Amino acid sequence: MAEKKIVVALAGNPNCGKTTLFNSLTGATAYVGNWPGVTVEKREGVYRNKKTKESATVVDLPGIYSLSPYTPEEVISRNFILEEKPDVVINVLDSTNFERNLYMTTQIMEMDVPMIVALNMTDVLEKDGQFIDAEKLSKELGCPVVAISALHQSNLDTLMSIAIKAASSPRKGSTVLASGKYAKAVEKACKIYADQEVSHPLFHAIKGLENDEIEAEKNPELVKKCQEILKEGILTDFEADSADERYQYITTNLVKTRSGHKVAAKEKLSVSDKIDRVLTNRWAAIPIFLVALLLIFHLTFSEDLFYLGHMGVPFSMNFEGNPYFEGLFWTDGGINSIGVILANITNGITGWIWDMIEKGLASVNTPDWTIGLLGSVINDGFFAVIGFLPQILCLFFFFSLLEDSGYMARVAFVFDRIFRRAGLSGRAFIPMLMGYGCGVPAMINTRTLNTDKERTATIRVIAFFCCGAKVTAVAAVAAILSSRWGWNADLVGFSMYLVGLVLAIAMVILMHWTTQREKVPPFIMELPAYHAPQWKALGIHMWDKTKGFVRKASTIIVLAALFIWVFSNFTPSWQYIPSMVDEFGQPVAAYEGSILKNLCQMAAPVFYPLGFGNNLGGEYWVMTLASALGLVAKEVVADAFITVAGGEAAVEALVMGTGISLGGLVAFLIFNLTTIPCFAAVATAKGELPKGQLKWTILFWLGTSYVVALMVRLMFDFVWTLAIIIPLIILIFVLAYLWYRHACKKEEAAKLEKELAQ
Ligand code: GDP
Ligand code: MG
Repeated sequence: MAEKKIVVALAGNPNCGKTTLFNSLTGATAYVGNWPGVTVEKREGVYRNKKTKESATVVDLPGIYSLSPYTPEEVISRNFILEEKPDVVINVLDSTNFERNLYMTTQIMEMDVPMIVALNMTDVLEKDGQFIDAEKLSKELGCPVVAISALHQSNLDTLMSIAIKAASSPRKGSTVLASGKYAKAVEKACKIYADQEVSHPLFHAIKGLENDEIEAEKNPELVKKCQEILKEGILTDFEADSADERYQYITTNLVKTRSGHKVAAKEKLSVSDKIDRVLTNRWAAIPIFLVALLLIFHLTFSEDLFYLGHMGVPFSMNFEGNPYFEGLFWTDGGINSIGVILANITNGITGWIWDMIEKGLASVNTPDWTIGLLGSVINDGFFAVIGFLPQILCLFFFFSLLEDSGYMARVAFVFDRIFRRAGLSGRAFIPMLMGYGCGVPAMINTRTLNTDKERTATIRVIAFFCCGAKVTAVAAVAAILSSRWGWNADLVGFSMYLVGLVLAIAMVILMHWTTQREKVPPFIMELPAYHAPQWKALGIHMWDKTKGFVRKASTIIVLAALFIWVFSNFTPSWQYIPSMVDEFGQPVAAYEGSILKNLCQMAAPVFYPLGFGNNLGGEYWVMTLASALGLVAKEVVADAFITVAGGEAAVEALVMGTGISLGGLVAFLIFNLTTIPCFAAVATAKGELPKGQLKWTILFWLGTSYVVALMVRLMFDFVWTLAIIIPLIILIFVLAYLWYRHACKKEEAAKLEKELAQ
């Protein structure tokens, strides 16, 4: 007989380790981040114990501080427990934050659902020299308590076996308010609900007494009755009083189950406090963040590690004689960073494989055009994009370290202070920083924001952040900037990240002052504890990222390469254009009359002002092609160049052959980094934005990227235009601010008038 699987729900405060526990139990690889609010949707997985043959469906819920919902996550979690009726709830507690975490325990207890408490992070507790007596706590709470460590996977099977057992015996809700001054009122209210056969009568009765918004909507009659009960007694401030009683109960009855030398814990605390004092210091915080970012880019992109070469330390030991691995670790300029070394190795291997394929094909007299086509698709499409993977993974690795350790949450905290000045909440910064990885989960994460306007503004600016896919375009252009203009590749990457960040902040502020104006509710950013990085989880994540990237490279990118090759090598009447090569190996007269070249030449005037349109010579149409196809996936920007050039090595010649100026090239890069994001991100934005906002958002992306690229182009090519651009920017901001003040005043006046009229 097929048995119905037991459903186990994980509930608890943000950042208490629910997702880590979920991943450990189900083998899933859901996003774990050391900051509150990472999980915004419930997620399901299956737990199986090989020895006992026990199994269950596990549901990871968003973290919540209480069951009185203010935010969307709180509503999701509450509704899941009340309406979808899991068989058992595991209340996950961060035992290093015992008192605060227990608050919600006292609320879950009130539901008619079997529950058990998982004391998580006991490994940290132990290191602090503390101990919580699970047995004692279990007696006090009246439900099983199991000490675990989700990270070190200790005691998890015991936890699940107790949970599965608990699922089969129904449990009636109980409340700590039963011993306080509201005991009578609670009892009466509970009876009213029970008589109406409402499920979870105790929980709903207490919500009714609290005059809870959702409850009042659902059971207006019953809530009225509850409020009458309160009026009978003289006690009326139930909400505040009951919260007090809960905390009192926790401090008098539950905290005593913890023992150990608090002194040691305090000393430990002060170490992290000391670190925080530096990392979140008013003056030092942002410079430290910038240095950390620069270091990440330096370790990923630099070909002159720690600028030793610049400082005169000689590195003239070339790896000569091996054409594939030349300059692997160092060249004349200096030592390579780890990212460059890994990229060199990858390119060496893929280059060798393609050489073998090409030789093999030539030896069986394969026609030229077939080799050309396969070269475009396999070598210029698939292999070229795979060549960027090591550096993307490097960035991803370093960012994960910053995030998992708890540092990124501090960065968000620091920016919160700046945002507040502009009347904004810093909560929006977490999804923005997530945008450095990939815009899709970042946009989904904006669900933790309170209002539609704040969400809209945040989703819009997430597109400006340089995600992993855009790194490929940065790397490709940075290579040209460094060999032609002597720029450092790592500094180019770093600047592009900063441009995204600064542009995002500027545009969020402008939007807040103009179209997205509203009062933002206060947000208290909580600093999570510092954690050692989870190496295993990090490894799994990197592997996932690699798989995703290879999948993309072997589907979308290969298709794009095929598309580019076919439509740039055939005329509208389907005549093949053989590519001709001059004495220097440069293609000449190739692509003349091809479909793509024709189309792009028609569209190129759009980019004339930006310096990469029809004001160039050579194969200038590639710029237009890359910008257009970047809408499919941002990797295609770099790939368009490689495919048209016929190999990565020829990209520089192709680009420089157009006679592009420095301003035009930088503008091209910035335009592509900040314009409409890839197709996947646009689809996500469509789902996440309020109705009717997508078209405005797309216009916003196009407009912003065009204007910014234009400014950059003018700045580089005609320095004197700075004298116009800078005052213009200042003027726009001043006007927007005045408009904002004016609108706020008008609103206040209107409010005052309304109040007076009443
Ligand atoms: P959630 O918000 O409740 O889903 O919490 P997460 O699962 O995202 O974890 C928050 C942070 O706590 C992450 O940095 C985890 O690595 C860390 N963490 C989770 N469980 C444990 C544990 O048992 N021990 C330690 N030391 N850290 C943990
Ligand atoms: Mg989570």
